[in-house]
Amino acid sequence: MAVIDRINFLRDEINKHNYNYYVLDNPTVSDFDYDKMFAELKQLEAENPILISPDSPTQRVGSVSEKFFPYTHKHRLYSLDNTYSYEELVKWYEKITKEYGDEVELVCELKIDGLAISLTYENGLFTTGVTRGDGVTGENITANLKTIKAVPLKLFEDVNIEVRGEIYMPKTSFEKLNEESLAKGEKVFANPRNAAAGSLRQLDSSITAKRDLSMFTYTAIIEDAANAPKTHYDSIMYLKKLGFRVNPNIRLCKNIQDAIDYCKEWDTKRFDLNYATDGVVIKVNSLAIQEDLGFTARAPKWATAFKFPPEEVTTKLLDIELNVGKTGAVTPVAVLEPVHLGGSIVQRASLHNFDEVKRLDIRIGDTVLIKKAAEIIPKVIKVMDTKEHNSFPVVEPPEFCPSCHSKLMSIDGGVSLYCASKNCSQQVTAKIEYWASKEAMDIDKVGPAIIQQLYDKKFISNAVDLYRLSIEDFMQLDLVQEKSATNMYNSIQASKNRSLTRLITALSIKNVGKETADILANEFKTIDNLKNADMKTLVALQGIGEKMAGIIYDFFHDEENIKMIDALKSLGVQPPEVQGAASNILGGKTFVLTGTLKNMTREEASALIKKMGGKTSSSVSKNTSYVLAGENAGSKLDKAEKLGVIILTEDEFFDMIKDS
Ligand code: NAD
Repeated sequence: MAVIDRINFLRDEINKHNYNYYVLDNPTVSDFDYDKMFAELKQLEAENPILISPDSPTQRVGSVSEKFFPYTHKHRLYSLDNTYSYEELVKWYEKITKEYGDEVELVCELKIDGLAISLTYENGLFTTGVTRGDGVTGENITANLKTIKAVPLKLFEDVNIEVRGEIYMPKTSFEKLNEESLAKGEKVFANPRNAAAGSLRQLDSSITAKRDLSMFTYTAIIEDAANAPKTHYDSIMYLKKLGFRVNPNIRLCKNIQDAIDYCKEWDTKRFDLNYATDGVVIKVNSLAIQEDLGFTARAPKWATAFKFPPEEVTTKLLDIELNVGKTGAVTPVAVLEPVHLGGSIVQRASLHNFDEVKRLDIRIGDTVLIKKAAEIIPKVIKVMDTKEHNSFPVVEPPEFCPSCHSKLMSIDGGVSLYCASKNCSQQVTAKIEYWASKEAMDIDKVGPAIIQQLYDKKFISNAVDLYRLSIEDFMQLDLVQEKSATNMYNSIQASKNRSLTRLITALSIKNVGKETADILANEFKTIDNLKNADMKTLVALQGIGEKMAGIIYDFFHDEENIKMIDALKSLGVQPPEVQGAASNILGGKTFVLTGTLKNMTREEASALIKKMGGKTSSSVSKNTSYVLAGENAGSKLDKAEKLGVIILTEDEFFDMIKDS
């Protein structure tokens, strides 16, 4: 393809995506893929400057829709150049230091992934609020902005000022909004940015008012030049003084190395925030140097954005595999064309259940948007609108188990499909794998591949059989020598005295995870006591409802399960008896831990709480008694504040337990 054709192709594609993104709030490619196309176009134009035309998307910012009254900005709003590479950041900085000395002070701010707006205040009163639009003309959305609590209507000083900021929707509110829309059968938003843009650009302000939107401000244009701050950092502090919300994570940096350290730090910490950030904005601190450097056609030369590795990318759905889990649940798994995401190559993503398959209307051959947040398995969040979609066949839920072919049962109102057969090989191996996993009996030398071989060669047909294996048995497996056979054998023996919580977890009782297992272990102390517990005692336990009590009771009254527990005992699987709590000072109290603690790890704090008779939970709800917050606490703290849960510092916590 001739360069000009490629350039024209890229311009058409980018213009189409700009319209979907800025006007319809409904992107059809991921930001990462968009940025790739944009970078290629920029590169081709740089190599062939003669082909640059003023209507190229590289020379323009955003887009305006005709939905609202247009408003001509007094001062133009620009976009930002961006990069995914530290090397490029250094190059950008070197260009500046070449002219302004060895070290030019920088300011780092989180790049809030929302919608840019400009607010005008006259004599301290809010008069006009406008979207960025194409930078020259925006949409007048004053009425909608007035419904947002974080937009002050009156400032603490009677100044004339134009302020720029980002309207965003907190992650928890975004999830809640999507859940509610889903329940009403309405359209869901792909991410918090689209939700914020869609909520703000409503013709009916009462809809905006119902959405939980907030704002951080990051630019001040002050009319009274004589008293204006001289640095960007000071101007942010001034905004704070006037009553605006500014992001607390702003940092002054001596040089680009400091700024890179900030980017590295926030690449992981960003997942603890209750708002989406897609990078770090790095700005020259001195406003005099900023003015001197000026702008390109679409962005300031004195600022650049470092973008975090993408959390979302698009790829092709090659197949939908069925997975049979340890409790017999049959779940669909998306098999994907391999794609780089969040530092690894992703080939599979979760689809949860067949209700989700139906909701997404996902079909084999579709282009899908997948997302991976810290440590979470990637999931498919959206099917991209493509011409081909309708030509692919609709995916129907299966009727039979993919492993043992028995008829599947549908429970939970049809949302979940289950295989009820006790001889289903995938279900049995999933159970044994879970038994040996880190979360349960922690048999670290016997992983899924070894378990599959042991099962295929008929050495084991359940988890109990693991304790019947000899070193010689392991040596009959492919590629297993005496040394590793001994290690495998020893790691099984070492698991015999794991805690009662681990043993209960390992049993794979439906809906009984580690937290419930902990409640049961602390209450009953031995597996025999638990086995003999009656329904009345189980139902009376805090945190165990009637349904769960019924499941636990039935499990321990099933003949096969009783046989299994007896067999484990005779083979020496004997957890030490749980000792009573050292004190019951925290009895009945539930704690949630967040942030980094100074004097102990979170695990140590958890153990201490349990020792004092308390419980810990991973998420904040109205049932949480206290949130114990260390440094850099994230979204859990926001949620606690919202729900009015008591927040304790580490010192306050120690004060609370000091008498015991
Ligand atoms: P941008 O969002 O990459 O960067 C500029 C914007 O950053 C500013 O306008 C402002 O809104 C925001 N920002 C957040 N925090 C800031 C801070 N602390 N200081 C200054 N600005 C801050 O640029 P853009 O022009 O709005 O959009 C371009 C980007 O949008 C692309 O790189 C792409 O990721 C995405 N996009 C995606 C599609 C798609 O189809 N997926 C289409 C168009 C644009």
